[in-house]
Amino acid sequence: MTHQLLLLAGDGIGPEIMAEVKALIDWMNAEGIGSFAYEEGLVGGAAYDAEGVAISETTMQKALAADAVIFGAVGGPKWDGVPYEVRPEAGLLRLRKDLGLFANLRPAICYPALAEASSLKREVVEGLDVLIVRELTGGVYFGEPKEITDLGNGQKRAVDTQVYETYEIERIVRVACELAKTRAKRVTSMEKRNVMKSGVLWNEVATEVARREYPDIAFDHMLADAGGMQLVRWPKQFDVIVTDNLFGDMLSDVAAMLTGSLGMLPSASLGAPDPQSGRRKAMYEPVHGSAPDIAGKEVANPIAMFASFAMCLRYSCGMIEAAGQLEKAIAEVLDEGLRTGDILPRTGAEGLTEVGTKGMGQAIRERFLSLAQAG
Ligand code: NAD
Repeated sequence: MTHQLLLLAGDGIGPEIMAEVKALIDWMNAEGIGSFAYEEGLVGGAAYDAEGVAISETTMQKALAADAVIFGAVGGPKWDGVPYEVRPEAGLLRLRKDLGLFANLRPAICYPALAEASSLKREVVEGLDVLIVRELTGGVYFGEPKEITDLGNGQKRAVDTQVYETYEIERIVRVACELAKTRAKRVTSMEKRNVMKSGVLWNEVATEVARREYPDIAFDHMLADAGGMQLVRWPKQFDVIVTDNLFGDMLSDVAAMLTGSLGMLPSASLGAPDPQSGRRKAMYEPVHGSAPDIAGKEVANPIAMFASFAMCLRYSCGMIEAAGQLEKAIAEVLDEGLRTGDILPRTGAEGLTEVGTKGMGQAIRERFLSLAQAG
């Protein structure tokens, strides 16, 4: 089966890190480790410069038709002054909205070799493997009314609306429970039912879905503020965390920092399963941005991009073994002491070798190939 991919490299370091994954896809095709057909397109500032929009209709049609979109990063100071509707980020938001990507998966994995790079103690983070499942298309970021009103007496009133309906909670909890089945079979749902009506409904609906549909999953609840505290106190107690858009935004950033560097963190955003094929629309992207400060310098860490592609292999291509091998290749290359500048400790770098984007990419591909050939 040939997997149809759309590669959208974007701006800044996007094209540099995407080139490394593109070379991996070419190798995999050449070696018969999977079959991929890919097209490339423009998004963000690059699309604005060439086409006057943050993403063209043609590219959107390709994204809708693809099995998965692999996305680099968008934005940069060059486009600070462009009109709001065509700013680089508008391309990313349009993709998320039109593909209906309501489930955002952010794994926080701490590679043993990088435990020292975390702000927490080694024993707290070493071997950490938490998956945060964040609701991405609802809640307070989208609820109406959303406005600032001038009260006419020198005061203003700002309103954001936190709103969730049953189906939105059901579908995200199902995604979390399905993923937990492939892991340690534990899900923790986080909300603020003590002070928010949306939290009361979230808790009720989540409990019911888990009880009715996932009796084999150990499902529990935690108030989101307590969850934030537990994430830094003892993060290894968690397997899968499911939460709303706002809490997910914050909790996943907290979890991200447990692992050391932004350049390490992948993400996946998934839509609803197609009624006929069961396939979900999907987009895979590093958590970091376009890093204009280091763009073009051949120092960007490509690991988040490789790890995002590993998620694509797992969730969109059903290539579970290859996904594991790619993740293992990353861990082994780190174990051997290869580091891009962002994951090089400020002190105690003896025995480590600094490499650039291409050097890291080549090492990961070679290691992946030998793991894949060994079977
Ligand atoms: P950023 O993530 O681009 O960079 C933050 C810091 O981390 C910088 O010092 C950067 O050099 C470093 N960094 C990030 N990725 C790295 C990597 N792979 N290897 C080594 N170092 C890395 O965030 P920012 O500086 O706040 O934003 C820059 C631009 O990116 C802005 O225009 C912003 O809007 C955009 N942005 C885009 C996305 C996206 O496309 N999904 C996400 C966040 C920010």
